[in-house]
Amino acid sequence: MAKKKLGPGKCVHCLKDVEERNFDHVFPESWYPDSTPPDLEKWQIPSCIPCNSDYGRLEQDFLLKIGLCLDPFDPASKSIVEKTLRSLKSSAARNPRDARHRLGKGRKILTEALQGGQIPDHGIFPGLGNRRANVNEEPVAVLVPAESFQRITEKIVRGIYYIEDGIFIEPPYEIEFYALPENDIAPWKDALDRFGSVYAREPGIMVRRAVAHEDGISSLFEITFWKQFKTYASVSLSGEGQQEGPMSNDRPAKDEKPDEEHLAWAIDQRAEVQHTLRALYGFVRHHPPPSLDLDPKYLLDHLIGAAFSLWRAVFLADTFRDDIRIHQSQEAFLLKVITDNAITFADDKANRHWTVEYYLENAKFRLASAIAYADHHKGTRLTERLMPFLRLRGMRGAELTRYEWESAHYALRKLFKVIAPDTDLEAKSPTLPKPEGLDAFLHR
Ligand SMILES: [Zn+2]
Repeated sequence: MAKKKLGPGKCVHCLKDVEERNFDHVFPESWYPDSTPPDLEKWQIPSCIPCNSDYGRLEQDFLLKIGLCLDPFDPASKSIVEKTLRSLKSSAARNPRDARHRLGKGRKILTEALQGGQIPDHGIFPGLGNRRANVNEEPVAVLVPAESFQRITEKIVRGIYYIEDGIFIEPPYEIEFYALPENDIAPWKDALDRFGSVYAREPGIMVRRAVAHEDGISSLFEITFWKQFKTYASVSLSGEGQQEGPMSNDRPAKDEKPDEEHLAWAIDQRAEVQHTLRALYGFVRHHPPPSLDLDPKYLLDHLIGAAFSLWRAVFLADTFRDDIRIHQSQEAFLLKVITDNAITFADDKANRHWTVEYYLENAKFRLASAIAYADHHKGTRLTERLMPFLRLRGMRGAELTRYEWESAHYALRKLFKVIAPDTDLEAKSPTLPKPEGLDAFLHR
């Protein structure tokens, strides 16, 4: 379809004022199944050209992967699954070049997919679990970037605000995304059942939204795709906005009292990582240089580095990593290094909005190198299994930073087993963050 051009104005996604915009489908046009009523009016919003094409690419990639995970029999998704399979079939190609392209796409998905025992019990998107439980074939899991779920959810939330209220979501309001397992959604469900309005373009998409009456803007969202899986989001004042009112972004971040639940977490995890360090110490002590081959030697160095960085990061994790605080921390940290020529833990702590990222990234880079090394030289197949745990960046809120930390520590312990298969260290799956800010909806 030729895209209708729109004059100058603001883009719903990036909020920039631009000269030229076009209409962007909130729920992408190719995602509407054939069972959609023909006269259904499709949601469209003004978007700048770069955002529109950026989303276009993301949505195409997402559909290609998700189309393989949807129910091939449900009328809500049947045509989507068929279309996806057709797009991979070389016999349906228009010419040899197209055929090669289709084969390549299919091969890429297969190499990235996990099979049978490789599939972790953790990380399967709620509602997109095994569809072929009764069939005697090995299950295959398709890897879909978590960021895609997040960005698509964000787009739909922005779209609903624009279409229903005619407003853009701008600071100090912000969108938080959640992928919640079934048993964690009870409080959200309750709020949505009691206060939710429904916006639907069925059977492709159904949105429920509960608006808080304090400000008439903050909202909870539940988005159901093809009647099969759901994503959740909240729109609320950012931490800073809540404490100090809007337009206060230029003030320095205050040092708040630590959250007690967070303190308990930090103490527990510090103990956990101490056990990891103890195990590494035991390994080093019992493997003096002559007895150690090249492989463990190389891995060991990375594992010790990652463990030390995680140890250091635990008590820095109580941060809300938004761009402004990170920037303030960077500036203060650099000044401290230049003027004092020394950095203590207190400095790390004071500038933790940046330093926590430094230590976490440091650990993750080392773990990624160790994974690549182990797969290449030791024949392990850890890349698919462990790399997803290193991709998350826990911006915005201590909960996500804790999740990022736990994910990296999980990968570290799994890697330690490569050099010390008999270790008694157990790798515990990271705990998925729980939704925040529900009290506002539940106790009013
Ligand atoms: Zn834009």
